Amino acid sequence: MTTQPETVREKILRLRTSFMEQLPERIRQAREQMHLLYGQPDNLVVIEELHRFFHGIKGTGRSFGMRELGVAAAQAESWTARLLESPEKRQLADWMEQMEKYFDLLTSMGDKSALSLSSMEAAPSAWQAESMPQDISHPERRIYLCDDDPLILEQLSYQLQCFGFKMETFRDPEEFLAAVRTHPPDAAIMDIIFPDDPDAGTNAMAALQSESGAHIPTIFLSGRSDFAARLAAVRAGGDAYFLKPVRAMDLVSVLDTVTAKQHSDPFRILVVDDEPTLAEYHALILQEAGMVTRCLHEPTQILNQLREFRSDLVLMDMYMPTCHGQELARIIRQIPDYVGLPIVFLSGETDRKKQDSAMRIAAEGFITKPVIPEALISAVTIRAERMRSLRALMTRDSLTGLFNHTTTAQMLDNAMANAQRQGDLLCFCMIDIDRFKSVNDTHGHPVGDQVIMALARILQQRLRHSDVVGRFGGEEFAVILHNVSPERAARLINILRLDFSRVQFHSTRGSFTCTFSAGIASLSRHPHSDALREAADNALYQAKNSGRNRVVIEE
Ligand code: GH3
Ligand code: MG
Ligand code: MG
Repeated sequence: MTTQPETVREKILRLRTSFMEQLPERIRQAREQMHLLYGQPDNLVVIEELHRFFHGIKGTGRSFGMRELGVAAAQAESWTARLLESPEKRQLADWMEQMEKYFDLLTSMGDKSALSLSSMEAAPSAWQAESMPQDISHPERRIYLCDDDPLILEQLSYQLQCFGFKMETFRDPEEFLAAVRTHPPDAAIMDIIFPDDPDAGTNAMAALQSESGAHIPTIFLSGRSDFAARLAAVRAGGDAYFLKPVRAMDLVSVLDTVTAKQHSDPFRILVVDDEPTLAEYHALILQEAGMVTRCLHEPTQILNQLREFRSDLVLMDMYMPTCHGQELARIIRQIPDYVGLPIVFLSGETDRKKQDSAMRIAAEGFITKPVIPEALISAVTIRAERMRSLRALMTRDSLTGLFNHTTTAQMLDNAMANAQRQGDLLCFCMIDIDRFKSVNDTHGHPVGDQVIMALARILQQRLRHSDVVGRFGGEEFAVILHNVSPERAARLINILRLDFSRVQFHSTRGSFTCTFSAGIASLSRHPHSDALREAADNALYQAKNSGRNRVVIEE
């Protein structure tokens, strides 16, 4: 029997149910704590804890649409705040009397079936949607290529496969249409002129567009450069238009762009809140928008989590028991690596002055509970996007978009530490393009750049998402492979070596191909990063010395 994965709405209902189940006991415990004040009227800790308790119930209750509970908890919260502000004993008896009433009210609400699921207020619109598939870590991009010329089909699909695209070819637009209807591709490359119709390609795409309304990213290839053909291509939803003969390299960059959106890395958001239910609720909202989240209930764990989880943004509760959100934000800010990490506070605090002062100190944004899901998603998305582009400037190489030398070296250190802690395998691989100087000398520097970009792309697209690919130097690349033996790593890199060697490059001096050599070293033999890098370098040197175009594992 297969079970359906839980939808986001179901998860939220489950969270809400568990919150309600625990509520009576939590109220009872808080009340017991309050009774300590009869004996110890000066016990500030108890009052502070009560304050936090009501604050938490207020936030969670409101977020789950339990308005009455939220209102009652808010009243109790401000009543507690009064005592905190002027803790004079003579007021205590009055204060306690009122407090008992609040507890009576809360207890009756905690037990009341009025809070049952059926009374959940209209859920925000985002919940109508089903949850989105999360696992897009290593997508294969399927491209349909349709052309009546068998030579074009063969050459282009061969070359594009070297770049990791899964190609399916069609000689006839009807066949192509039938395939798209049963299994739509990530993008299509379509010829325009077919033997019995000079507009067959654009007609086919126009037909698809009108019948399904869904847009398939499309590149048109054509021998026609007339305005009518180009207009028809635009009207049929074409994203690009190439005149024949077309080079695979040129198509690759367009295919990357048009398929990029679906496959870009999801944002990683760390949600810090001492209320587990609430943290999970906010995490679900973000997951619904395609983000990856991790919840943290214990602020003291923040440094480990930041290191491990590599978050793009931290969504942080303001009032937490061990330390205040503002303090936690300052701790983060004092670490050079996280100076730019966006922090967004999420709190029931509605006082603008307090919000402003929190923002001045450390945060990029302030969102009040209960959140409107759409507002939360957009506030987080805007800031995480900005973080990504800033970070890319610092950590990525501008020609290839791969990690630069410094970042790769840091990632190697981290990866080694993690692998050692968990007893995992790890391989480090150095790759260098063969006789690259002569490519530059013969075909010019810009063509040399194309070769570097092609290899970068092959490495990045063909390795697993968890593997790190960096540009270490001019025509030198580094790859960190997790959880593989050196032998398996060598087989993997060998496949890429063959693919790369088949890519055709072109210049005014003619067409040519390139190769690379690679050296692999294993963490199990070199526990320090300097030694590991040196061993991989030595293996690379051997590969060069023994004839190039090969992969060598360290001796
Ligand atoms: P080997 O097979 O021994 O590696 O020979 P090689 O010619 O590849 O090695 P060498 O180190 O002699 O030459 C590397 C060349 O790469 C020299 C340098 O001008 C060129 N290069 C470095 N960075 C870039 C770049 O960003 N773009 C281009 N086009 N060339 C680069
Ligand atoms: Mg809290
Ligand atoms: Mg070289």
